[in-house]
Amino acid sequence: MLKSRTSILGRKVGSAKVVSVAEVFSTPKGGLAYKYNLLCACGHSFVLSRAALYLPGEHCPNCYKKSKVPSLSNHPIFKIWESMVRRCYSPSHSMYHLYGGRGVTICPEWLGGSAGKKTSVEGFSTFLSYIGERPSPRHTIDRVDNSRGYEPGNVRWATFAEQAKNRRSTVLVSMGGETYPFATLLRKLNVNSGHAYKTMKAKSISHQEFIDGILATHKESL
Ligand SMILES: [Zn+2]
Repeated sequence: MLKSRTSILGRKVGSAKVVSVAEVFSTPKGGLAYKYNLLCACGHSFVLSRAALYLPGEHCPNCYKKSKVPSLSNHPIFKIWESMVRRCYSPSHSMYHLYGGRGVTICPEWLGGSAGKKTSVEGFSTFLSYIGERPSPRHTIDRVDNSRGYEPGNVRWATFAEQAKNRRSTVLVSMGGETYPFATLLRKLNVNSGHAYKTMKAKSISHQEFIDGILATHKESL
């Protein structure tokens, strides 16, 4: 009897697992009822009756509470933060050679915060409260001094025009909320620069319009 009641041990219930029998008691009808100890991945322990184990949904009170809080990772700036992290720390990112590969770093508070992890939502939150909301879709993250990393005092929202003024030698274009040197994007998109300039001249379009046209054709995310 006890064997069949304990075979449920180890079963996954939401983000928790059944670890042991908490209580066995008699029902008014004379049967036996069981309650179980559960341990959640979040570290929280709690008790559930056998019947409740089979109900759908999140049972851990701690995780249930959290799931009601709107996730910071849905924030419009989260993706921008994420690709900033990836181009500095993930060698598989298409722009890594221009950032992480050149020693560009992000200050620890904007990565993992005090959570001690490499990256965390807390790090994003700290970054967000420093840089503030994006003033417009034309604004991207700009490092004021290119020889320094992403850190307080060196990062701001800037329009492409403002950034281009800072670096006259390089034409900057935007893709997916990020700013890149035009020539770099051409290489990435496998577009011949002679062809690019000829097309821009013939159609009287800007560098940005040219890139937008290519992306609309390929619909590829880089
Ligand atoms: Zn939990």
